Amino acid sequence: MHYFSFSDSSLHAEKVSLYKIAEQHGTPTFVYSANTIRDHYQSLDQALAPIDHEVAYAVKANSNIAVLSLLAKAGSSFDIVSGGELFRVVKAGGDPAKCTFAGVGKTREEIEYALELGIHAFNVESEAELIFINKVAGEVEKKAPVSIRINPNVDAKTHKYISTGKSENKFGIDFDLISGVFERAAQMEHIELKGLQMHIGSQLTTVQPFADAVTKVAPLAADLKAKYGIEFFSIGGGIGIIYDPALESGSKEWWDAHNEDDRPLTAAEYAETLIPILKPLGLKILLEPGRYIVGNAGVLLTRCLYEKKGTAKTFKIVDAGMNDLIRPALYEGYHEIVPVTQSGPVNTVKTDVVGPVCETGDFFCQDRELPDFREGDLIALMSAGAYGAVMGSTYNSRPLPTEILVDGEETTVIRKRQTYDDLLAQEI
Ligand SMILES: *Cc1c(COP(=O)(O)O)cnc(C)c1O
Repeated sequence: MHYFSFSDSSLHAEKVSLYKIAEQHGTPTFVYSANTIRDHYQSLDQALAPIDHEVAYAVKANSNIAVLSLLAKAGSSFDIVSGGELFRVVKAGGDPAKCTFAGVGKTREEIEYALELGIHAFNVESEAELIFINKVAGEVEKKAPVSIRINPNVDAKTHKYISTGKSENKFGIDFDLISGVFERAAQMEHIELKGLQMHIGSQLTTVQPFADAVTKVAPLAADLKAKYGIEFFSIGGGIGIIYDPALESGSKEWWDAHNEDDRPLTAAEYAETLIPILKPLGLKILLEPGRYIVGNAGVLLTRCLYEKKGTAKTFKIVDAGMNDLIRPALYEGYHEIVPVTQSGPVNTVKTDVVGPVCETGDFFCQDRELPDFREGDLIALMSAGAYGAVMGSTYNSRPLPTEILVDGEETTVIRKRQTYDDLLAQEI
């Protein structure tokens, strides 16, 4: 579900034409829909209403402070993975007491900062980290609230680069070792045991891996509650979204022809499957969705610079590159490609849409049958709201693009385009 649709043959974000945004602000530009973000947050929050729960938005998916501010106002908690993200949440008006701090490599500075601001809990990912947090908390005469991340060793059935819940992944503590770690943590003077956490991977399109993981770990959560009085069980993020709209339009014929695994995972199905397993625990359940909240709520607007017909391929070269949106290059991410202005039927051609960056991996699609857009035409790379702008770099000395938030008829620039001077500002 999202609020990007055609009106008067032009793609709009809510009530605003993307064509007009490009005229006014140039390209490449990320455009987000505020109401899509709100809706996604609310749909998940409501689906989980039958149990005591908190939705902690995973800041890393899109950490623009305007996005964080919008979610803070909607009542969201936050899952952070660095001191920088904590700083952003606070600047956005979020409450540090609603932040859980994940990540395998927290530094002394980050731990001190989080203790000082009074976060909800550290999600501890190794025994060494636990020992260090205990030490740092002792030095600043505080008790550190802690949950420990379990690696449940289940297969999330997602791309190997975004799978996190197998024993060979660097995240969390092995299922067989975790009870011992809790036992020792309970003895530590400056640690307060608050919860158990897991996160098995990202872009999961079926509920089964979640169900497997929760079923496997629930008895342990019950045991830890009885032994140490833990208060919450965080089941992580990872709910996938639809990147390929063919999956969404889903006629009956389409479904019949496709694999069960391609069906979209809805908040309702997620909740219906997991609530019966979670409810008997009597623990507060935390969710850490990132992509689900913002993924379909953003597009990257880009303009076609050139068309190049070779003997083997047709390339359309656009003004956005892998430095702006790296998902296709990094983990074979798919983005639907839509011409922003559509008047009448157009031919389709097999196309590689590529960026200007000097890397062979700088492409947005290869050999995809697409409307035959031309030099000067505007196109939208859909579903670029999550892991888009946040992963941007200035590689090839390309300034970071503009980010814009549309809310109904209102358009706000939420990050200005970098200038050449900005590019050099830190250099001496
Ligand atoms: C990245 C991450 C998330 C969010 O993942 P999504 O797939 O965007 O929902 C949640 N929790 C942790 C610990 C993460 O690292």
